[in-house]
Amino acid sequence: MATERTLSIIKPDATRRNLTGRINAKFEDAGLRIVAQKRIKLSPEQAGKFYEVHKDRPFYGELVEFMASEPVVVQVLEGEDAIARNREVMGATNPENAEPGTIRKEFALSVGENSVHGSDAPETAKEEIAFFFSGLELVG
Ligand code: ADP
Repeated sequence: MATERTLSIIKPDATRRNLTGRINAKFEDAGLRIVAQKRIKLSPEQAGKFYEVHKDRPFYGELVEFMASEPVVVQVLEGEDAIARNREVMGATNPENAEPGTIRKEFALSVGENSVHGSDAPETAKEEIAFFFSGLELVG
C-alpha cells in the first residue's frame, strides 16, 4: 500500500451544523492526516464545474445549488491507501445504506445532503486536489 492523497469536502449541511471538528476527528482516528484545509464558499459556476461529471444526472441541479448554498471546507487528506480509507470512513452515498460509525451514518441528512465528498480514484484525486489547491499550499 502506498501513501496517497485524496480530496475531501465537508459539505454545507455539515458546516452549517458545526460538525467540522467532529468529522475531522473521524479522519484522524482513521489514520488520515489533514495536510491542507480551507473554508470557502463556492459559486454555482464553480460547484457546477466540480461536479461536471454528473451533469446528465437528474440530481445535478439540486447538487450544484446545495454545494453553493453555504460555505464548505475543502481539504487534502494523506495516508496509507488514503482514497479507499477515506471512502470507508465516509460510508455509502445514501446514509440509509452506510455502516455504523461512518460519517454519513452518523451525520448525513439524506442521499443529497450527505455531509462529505471524497475522491474515488487516484486520477480524480489528483484533478480534484489541483481544482482547489496550488502546489504552494501543499506541504509534505
Ligand atoms: P459519492 O459522493 O458517494 O461518490 P456520487 O458520486 O454517486 O456519490 O454522487 C455525488 C453526490 O451527488 C453525492 O454525494 C450526493 O451529494 C449527490 N447525489 C447522489 N445521488 C443522489 C440522488 N439520488 N439524489 C440527490 N443527490 C444525489
